[in-house]
Amino acid sequence: MAKMMKCGDLMPGCNAVIEGKDDNEVMAKASEHAKMKHGVKTVAPDMAAKVRAAIKEKK
Ligand SMILES: [Zn+2]
Repeated sequence: MAKMMKCGDLMPGCNAVIEGKDDNEVMAKASEHAKMKHGVKTVAPDMAAKVRAAIKEKK
């Protein structure tokens, strides 16, 4: 089942939607997006936990 997360759930005002074939792919793309768009250099463990919590099954 494909997964997705809305970046705006974590970064208010961002309308990016990250999709992947599983949680790990979404995590990888989300951290890349955070680096590129939000200036996040390293994803701290608490942020990673929030990202995982925000991942939903893609309908
Ligand atoms: Zn974003």
